[in-house]
Amino acid sequence: MLAHASVLERIGRSALDLVFPPRCLGCGASGSFLCGTCVATLDRALPPRCERCWRPGMSGTCIACQVAPPPFDGLQVAYIYRGIARELVQALKYRGMTALAAPMAALCAQALREAAFDADMIVPVPLAGLRKRTRGYNQAELLARPLGRELSLPVTTRALERKRRAPAQARSAAAEERQRNVAGAFRAPAEAVAGRSVLLIDDVTTTGATMTACATALREAGASRVWAFAFCRED
Ligand SMILES: [Zn+2]
Ligand SMILES: [Zn+2]
Repeated sequence: MLAHASVLERIGRSALDLVFPPRCLGCGASGSFLCGTCVATLDRALPPRCERCWRPGMSGTCIACQVAPPPFDGLQVAYIYRGIARELVQALKYRGMTALAAPMAALCAQALREAAFDADMIVPVPLAGLRKRTRGYNQAELLARPLGRELSLPVTTRALERKRRAPAQARSAAAEERQRNVAGAFRAPAEAVAGRSVLLIDDVTTTGATMTACATALREAGASRVWAFAFCRED
C-alpha cells in the first residue's frame, strides 16, 4: 500500500510540474528549480583536503589513507551537506523532486572539471533492490544521466550490482556497523569494466563505506582506475 501511495504521489507531482512554472527549492523564486542566488549560498568542499579521500584540513594524503589506502584513486565531493545542499539531496531522494537532478548534475560537472578525473565511463552507485522498488528510481542514476551528457561520458548501470540487501543506513547508527553492512555488498561483471577508468557517482556519501565497497568490486573486476564523486558530504 505504501509503495502504491508514493507512486500516485509522484505522478501527481510531475503533473503539477507541468501546470505550474518551476520554483526554486531554496527561496521559492519562480523560473527555475534552483536559482543563482541559492547556488551561491552552497558551501563548496574546497581544498586544502586529502587528495585521496577529500577529508578537510590537510593537503597531500592524510594519515588514514597512508595507513590503509582506499580502493579508489580519488574521492571528491562538490558541496558540504548542510543548508540548501542538504535540502536538495533530501528533495531528490525522498520527495520525488526528480527535476532537481539536472541542475544538481550541472553543479557536479562544474566541480568534476576542476577535479580532473580521467574517467572514461560513469557508473551510478546502485540502490538496494527493495528501496529502488519502493522509491521507483535511483537518485544516483538520475544524477549520472545528465552528468554523462555534460561531460560527454557514457553512463552504465550494468557495471555494478548489489549482491544482497543491506539494511538502510539511517537505521544503523555506528560507522563501523555501516562499514560491515555494506562491505562485500557489490559485484561488478568484469566485461563491463576491465581496463576502464570508472567514475562512480552518488548523491551523498557519509562514511565513504558504500563508495569503498563499490570501488573494491570495480577493482576486483579489473577497472584500471576508480574515481568516486558525490554531490555532497558532511565535513
Ligand atoms: Zn533560490
Ligand atoms: Zn585521506
